[in-house]
Amino acid sequence: MAGVIRRLDEAVVNRIAAGEVIQRPANAIKEMIENCLDAKSTSIQVVVKEGGLKLIQVQDNGCGIRKEDLDIVCERFTTSKLQKFEDLASISTYGFRGEALASISHVAHVTVTTKTADAKCAYRATYSDGKIKAPPKPCAGNQGTQITVEDLFYNVNTRRKALKNPNEEYAKILEVVSRYAIHNSGISFSVKKQGDTVSDVRTLSNASTVDNIRSIFGNAVSRELIEVGCEDASLAFKMKGYITNANYSVKKCIFLLFINHRLVESAALRKAIETVYAAYLPKSTHPFLYLSLEIAPQNVDVNVHPTKHEVHFLHEDSILDRVQQHVESKLLGSNSSRMYFTQTLLPGADCSSSEVVKASANSSAVTKGTSERVYAHQMVRTDSREQKLDAFLQPVNNPLSTGPTELTTEVTAGPPEAVVRPQDAEMEDVSDVVEMADVQEDTAKPGGLSESGHLSPETEPPRKRPREDADIEMEKDDTRKDMTAACTPRRRIINLTSVLTLQEEISNQAHANLQEMLRDHSFVGCVSPQWALAQYQTKLYLLNTTKLSQELFYQILIYDFANFGVLRLSEGNLIGLPLLIDNYVPPLEGLPMFILRLATEVNWDEEKECFESLSKELAMFYSIRKQYIIDEANPTNSQNEDSDSGSTTWKWTVEHVLYKAFRTYLLPPKHFAEDGNILQLANLPDLYKVFERC
Ligand code: ADP
Ligand code: MG
Repeated sequence: MAGVIRRLDEAVVNRIAAGEVIQRPANAIKEMIENCLDAKSTSIQVVVKEGGLKLIQVQDNGCGIRKEDLDIVCERFTTSKLQKFEDLASISTYGFRGEALASISHVAHVTVTTKTADAKCAYRATYSDGKIKAPPKPCAGNQGTQITVEDLFYNVNTRRKALKNPNEEYAKILEVVSRYAIHNSGISFSVKKQGDTVSDVRTLSNASTVDNIRSIFGNAVSRELIEVGCEDASLAFKMKGYITNANYSVKKCIFLLFINHRLVESAALRKAIETVYAAYLPKSTHPFLYLSLEIAPQNVDVNVHPTKHEVHFLHEDSILDRVQQHVESKLLGSNSSRMYFTQTLLPGADCSSSEVVKASANSSAVTKGTSERVYAHQMVRTDSREQKLDAFLQPVNNPLSTGPTELTTEVTAGPPEAVVRPQDAEMEDVSDVVEMADVQEDTAKPGGLSESGHLSPETEPPRKRPREDADIEMEKDDTRKDMTAACTPRRRIINLTSVLTLQEEISNQAHANLQEMLRDHSFVGCVSPQWALAQYQTKLYLLNTTKLSQELFYQILIYDFANFGVLRLSEGNLIGLPLLIDNYVPPLEGLPMFILRLATEVNWDEEKECFESLSKELAMFYSIRKQYIIDEANPTNSQNEDSDSGSTTWKWTVEHVLYKAFRTYLLPPKHFAEDGNILQLANLPDLYKVFERC
């Protein structure tokens, strides 16, 4: 039997229509926030009760509503934003159809309190079913608008029953407001429950987009962000935003998508981007994405139903392609394991920078210091304190164990009789020290070190020892065997301002995170005499041994000033050289050049400059260099750098003498993080991601 068709009561029609626009409190709040933004507000505060079902109150400091307009503001199709249909194509405001307030007023009690800049006072009016209930009443109020929505769906039973869980609704509200807050940095947002003193979402007007992402989604997201941005005039679109790098992944994709500043959804775009990430993230994990697309308005169908968040636009496939390509290229670029050739700045090295995004694009939790938490799955079981057996087995042809190599170097700059033979080098008690400089010997007190006398990590580095500590008790007899820089039997106290200033300059330049890395590194191996690999936590580093050793010797010279042992040279006029660290003889073929440079490069007139330049020259002479290694390894065939016996010698020296000393003694200067002398090659989590794909 056919039913009888009757015209529906107008109130019912409006209520049904309103229910389509406003399906839950979060929809109402989104509409209201868009109105605040259209009104050029810089502060938007939301207060709710029972997940917005009992009360929603949105306060802004925007342009306000004129008193004359208050009568019709809640009527359907009343708007201050669109006049002609043609304007639709160029619309720049959120609202344009005058539907939101009308809809809300059909399913809730609405009160508007508003003041424009030139009004003498504020006005308040209440609405029901689109109609103003009484003429606006003057009242006190600041410029802007406050809209209160009470008892949402009081007249729509089914809807009210469907929204039983205020917590769920509140979560939706927080989601909407926080997304708008991120997209609208420069405008402060807050959301709280009525009666609460603390806001659940709060952004400040001077905060950046990244600040807002951090305050809403946390550090874990914000420190892994990569800034993205691309545009294409022929497709009439622009895109910008922030996406997480491959270090970050979550169970559920977080995708904040704004198209022409409207929070929308696009399943196609989401899929296009997730496809890119699938290659980089562990299985069934997802990224965080915030993208803002601006597409020529005429290419986007804005005249869609307000609740229809899914958008479509012209050239959709081509635009998706471009966005996808861009995201992929950014992701690749941020993969630190692929940055070998371009990177000179050590990730996280720039401690002074507060630019989160820059740092996080090549993020390195580790070099940022101990405050960063290292999770169990990120740990690599290496222990820098573990020792290798060969550390105790000095190679037979170590320079100090007087190998068979007879290397004679003529000092070309000096008299021809000045000839040194390294095999004659021997260590001497410090009582025979060749005075490097005339310092206050008389202030010397008996001083000393641990019984072992070795440069072990437990041996406190001299530079960190307070100067007064120099008068530690010690035995004077058994130091002959353990002659080290750090183990001189009588430590002289240096009070020369010049030297103290130089010490201070070194410690001011020290890079704490690099020092930590050096202190706790595990030595991996030598690449060449100049380069070596070391691991620290999950990262692999390439270090310039030449430059590091040069710096080490300079620092020892300055910090242990006048407290060195002696490498005695038996022949010629040169009696000896300072013994800077145990088991290390400088590459003696550099001696002629060193002597020459002493004459030309050292400033002998000014005290501080003299000590500084002299130490620099000495450090350069002492640093481990390629030439030396080759000659030493095989004097007859300098090509054969890897000859077995030879390479064991220098490799042993690099690992067990130099890198051991770096641990304890080197205060790495800041520029090492930037000039490529210490480079991060790979980070294990990134490598896992690469292998996961294989
Ligand atoms: P639309 O935004 O599509 O114009 P709305 O129903 O959302 O329609 O709002 C109707 C009108 O009410 C707006 O055009 C605007 O003039 C006024 N209005 C609403 N909210 C505010 C506000 N927070 N500040 C200033 N004006 C507002
Ligand atoms: Mg609106």
